[in-house]
Amino acid sequence: MKITKVYVEKYKWPKEKPIANGKHIYTDNELNLLVIETDEGITGYGCSWDISFAERIGQTIIGEDPLNHEKLWEKMYVPKFLGRKGNSLWTISAIDIALWDIKSKICGVPLYKLLGGARESIPYYIAGGYYGPDKGIPELQKEMEQYLSWGAKAVKMKVGALSIKEDIARVKAVREVIGPDIKLMVDANCAYKFFDAIEFAKRAEEYDLFWFEEPISQDDYDGYRKIAAKTCIPIACGENEATRFGYRDLINTQSISYLNPDAECLGGITELIKIASMADANGLVLSPHGQQQVHVILDCALPNVRIAEFYPPQYDAKIYEAWKNPVKLNSDGTVSPNPVPGTGLDINREVLKNYRIK
Ligand SMILES: [Mg+2]
Repeated sequence: MKITKVYVEKYKWPKEKPIANGKHIYTDNELNLLVIETDEGITGYGCSWDISFAERIGQTIIGEDPLNHEKLWEKMYVPKFLGRKGNSLWTISAIDIALWDIKSKICGVPLYKLLGGARESIPYYIAGGYYGPDKGIPELQKEMEQYLSWGAKAVKMKVGALSIKEDIARVKAVREVIGPDIKLMVDANCAYKFFDAIEFAKRAEEYDLFWFEEPISQDDYDGYRKIAAKTCIPIACGENEATRFGYRDLINTQSISYLNPDAECLGGITELIKIASMADANGLVLSPHGQQQVHVILDCALPNVRIAEFYPPQYDAKIYEAWKNPVKLNSDGTVSPNPVPGTGLDINREVLKNYRIK
């Protein structure tokens, strides 16, 4: 089998209402779909954030056998000419995901089984609790109640955009409405400096947080050491870390309890598997970040994943319509991968046809 074509389909559509985390406001949803065509009619799909290097990197693997993912990863990863992280690595990530899509489809085996089949389902948390226009504490509480009505046993909320005092009031209000037995995570999306994060953590400890995610910049490894030394709240981090080398350095801070690798950003599924092994050898567990179509597969494939991230449909209803096989929640607080071969990124183009921009 040979790769004959690599290209991007880009879609963009407005959100019903803008949402915000501790640092960024999102007004649109995007899908950057990386497509690999082969001479045997099997098409692979991957995706990532900006994959504007797709044409350039894609050219280097035309004519190659898509099954040779290790060979192709090494061929694509050329920091000297493309940079070490960021857009070029996002493109490599999307291509690598598409290669695994092809492999799984050729085998006719669901990818979570092909990659190890560690379990059939996994507990999830709902990644919600964003800031939004006209969204106060009562609206936030109502949102959390809705998640509990679905069967959620764990929920996450954003912090970092308001004063620490205001965000602690939000955390308190959420803990009050979800009760003592539901896991609660907070995510600052790198909004704090280390000393702010220590102050937040000290005030938040009484609300029994499951983890404190990305309190500070991904690059401030010393800051993570300082925060971990001052709080009993487990720290989660990794959605902005990349490659096995970056993860080695992050793990070596001995500050992170939960790693949040994102196959779309760190170098694809091939690289995430290596990071999972390294984490396991260091006694750490994963909760992969981002695209749940791909990550619920990895969550159920790999042994040292503890909890899955799940984005609720209200933040992007269109994409749930567009996926041919959207990941769906079980009623018992768990989620299972779709029992079909591939990465789950096949879309119904009819749904998104008015939003294609490339
Ligand atoms: Mg996050």
